[in-house]
Amino acid sequence: MQIGVDPRRAVAISGMATASSVIRLLDGSRDREQIIAEAGQHGVPREVTERILALLAAAGAVVDFPAEMLRFVPPELRQRLMPVLATASLAAQDSDGGASLIARRSSCTVQVSGRGPVAALVADLLTSSGLAAAGTGSPQEASQADLLVLVGRQSPAETAELLRLRQPYLAVYAEEAIGVVGPLVRPGVTACLRCIDLAKAERDPAWPLILAQLAGRCADPPGCDAVLAAAVAAQTAAQAVAFADRSHQADATANGTLELVLPSWQWRRRTWLPHPACACGSHQAGQDRTGQYRPASREPEGMNAAGELRP
Ligand SMILES: [Zn+2]
Repeated sequence: MQIGVDPRRAVAISGMATASSVIRLLDGSRDREQIIAEAGQHGVPREVTERILALLAAAGAVVDFPAEMLRFVPPELRQRLMPVLATASLAAQDSDGGASLIARRSSCTVQVSGRGPVAALVADLLTSSGLAAAGTGSPQEASQADLLVLVGRQSPAETAELLRLRQPYLAVYAEEAIGVVGPLVRPGVTACLRCIDLAKAERDPAWPLILAQLAGRCADPPGCDAVLAAAVAAQTAAQAVAFADRSHQADATANGTLELVLPSWQWRRRTWLPHPACACGSHQAGQDRTGQYRPASREPEGMNAAGELRP
C-alpha cells in the first residue's frame, strides 16, 4: 500500500492486506482504543489493528494530534486550519500533526505596517496561516507585536525608533520591477537596515544623499504589478511564518535579503553582515573573543558561502 503520490513524500508499506477497514477509521475523530474497538466490530482482531497502527506509525504516515486541542477549536476554524496542519506535519515532519506548531503560531503576533497591495496580501496570507496578524498601522503603534512587517521604504528615524524599542522587524519593498524581502532584523543580533545602508554607502558614496531623498516617498506609478506584488507577499509571509515557527527557513533573511529582479523567475539571496559602524550593536554581539566576526545565525541550507541560492 502506498500513501502519498510524490516519491519525496510517499511511503509504501507491505503486509497491509486487511488495512483498509482500519485506515478508514483514522479520520481524527477516534482515539486509539476506539479505533481498536470499532475495527473489532468489523471483524478485525485487536492484534491485527495494533500491528497496522504500528506499521503506519513507523512509516511516519500517522500523526497523533492531541484530541483535547481540536475539541475547543470551532468547526469553521478547524476547517480553515486543516490545510495548514497537513502542510506543517508533512514539511516539519512533526509527529503531532502540526499541533505544537499551531500553538506557537496562535501565540505569536505579527503586525503589518504599510499600504498597497503587498501589505494587504501579506496580512491575508498571515491570517490564513493561523497567525495572529493585525492590520496596517504605523510602526510605533505596532511595537507590541512579536514581529513587525514593514512594507515600503523606511525612514532612518522610524527604524532608529524600532531599534530603541528592541522591536524585531522584517523589511520588504517592491518597486522598479524588483522585489526585496528582508532583512529580518533582531535588534542587536542581526544586521539592521542601517547596517545595510552603511555597507551600500561604502560602495556608493552618493547613497546617503539618495537615501535622504527617498524617505517617505514612493514611485508613482509604482513599478510593481499584481504578479510581482503577489510573489513578494508570498515570500514575505513565508519568512514571517518561519519566524513564528522558529524554523531555519527564517535564516534566509537574517543577515540577508531575498531578491527577485524581473524578468528573472529566480529569487536570489544577498548577504548583509552587521556593520561595525552601526549603533545597533549586532556587529559587537557577533564577535567572539579573538575579535573575529562570527555570524549570529548559520547560513541556511541550499546556499553557498557567498549566500547565493544554489540552483
Ligand atoms: Zn545595524
